[in-house]
Amino acid sequence: MSILVTGGAGYIGSHTCVELLNSEYEVVVVDNLSNSSEKSLERVQKITGKKPKFYQGDILDQTFLERVFEKEQIESCIHFAGLKAVGESVEKPWEYYHNNITGTLVLTDVLKKYGVKNLIFSSSATVYGDPVQIPITEECPKGQCTNPYGWTKSMLEQILMDMQKADDEWNIVLLRYFNPIGAHESGMIGENPNGVPNNLMPYITQVAVGKLECLGIFGNDYETPDGTGVRDYIHVMDLAKGHVKALKKIEEKSGLSIYNLGTGVGYSVLDIVKNFEKASNVKIPYVVKSRRAGDIAACYSDASKAEAELGWRAEYGILEMCRDSWNWQKKNPNGYE
Ligand code: NAD
Ligand code: UDP
Repeated sequence: MSILVTGGAGYIGSHTCVELLNSEYEVVVVDNLSNSSEKSLERVQKITGKKPKFYQGDILDQTFLERVFEKEQIESCIHFAGLKAVGESVEKPWEYYHNNITGTLVLTDVLKKYGVKNLIFSSSATVYGDPVQIPITEECPKGQCTNPYGWTKSMLEQILMDMQKADDEWNIVLLRYFNPIGAHESGMIGENPNGVPNNLMPYITQVAVGKLECLGIFGNDYETPDGTGVRDYIHVMDLAKGHVKALKKIEEKSGLSIYNLGTGVGYSVLDIVKNFEKASNVKIPYVVKSRRAGDIAACYSDASKAEAELGWRAEYGILEMCRDSWNWQKKNPNGYE
């Protein structure tokens, strides 16, 4: 029996493949490579000594997905496939709703048809909008998203919850990720954004490696200790381990569950710059710019539910996250190219 990993060639998916293979799961990856390279899977094989099976194709393509299910014995699905660039989603809302929502509807239809009612879904802290309380617990009400990408996550959560309510044979885990950074400690796989990065850590690593000149800090007048935005950064390997724990939960026929995956600690943009400089010994020049539209002041998790129910907690600290982001970027200045 195998675990189907949609979007498994991507950043979080490839790291999760490592953890799955190291935990003796068989892995079948489906990815259209729209935002990734098959090389990530070759490197997963180098790291683990095991080969994930790979089918290149689109989750929107039902015939393709059914072919995969005919060939493979799938027991559960971890669903990472999706478009994730916040800014692009504002420019191309239809593409985001279609890819992320229709894609998930097609996928779940095929899962249902083949009697595989075990699903782990990549959600995001973005569903909390501007949170009414910090640290954010899972009971915190969902909020207004500020872009179509965020709405796809919020709407998909609702769709999956309704499906599970109507048919309790479904076991569904919604994992709300905070801010994943870092890379496998080998430096062989990591985050490989297209074009100029939108996210803080890949921007910093590209400044450090000389591809970009200077970091722009989006606002230093927030109500936070140093005025810059505060987020809950989590090492991608900790996140990957959270998925293996969620699979164990599903194997107990858990119905619907929702977990925050974060460290519970908030770091400001300036904290990240300082920690990165310490971990890399490279100075990061920065200028303070105006606030970025849609950003909130602070967002960090209460991750105690995942600890209590999954036996999972994040283990890596911020210096290790910075060290591993830098190790990946230094060894692969042009990503997988
Ligand atoms: P990623 O872009 O690296 O990985 C997503 C993968 O899905 C890519 O390999 C892409 O080629 C593939 N894909 C996209 N549409 C597809 C389709 N229609 N059919 C088949 N494959 C398709 O992104 P990531 O950072 O690894 O994120 C994984 C998941 O986690 C996404 O759903 C994302 O929205 C979610 N998430 C990410 C973050 C983050 O900061 N990285 C935070 C919260 C949630
Ligand atoms: N940020 C920044 N400069 C950048 C990218 C991000 O100052 O070039 C800030 C952003 O305003 C936020 C934090 O870094 O406070 C994390 O942003 P990111 O886009 O990585 O994740 P988000 O929390 O927005 O999903």
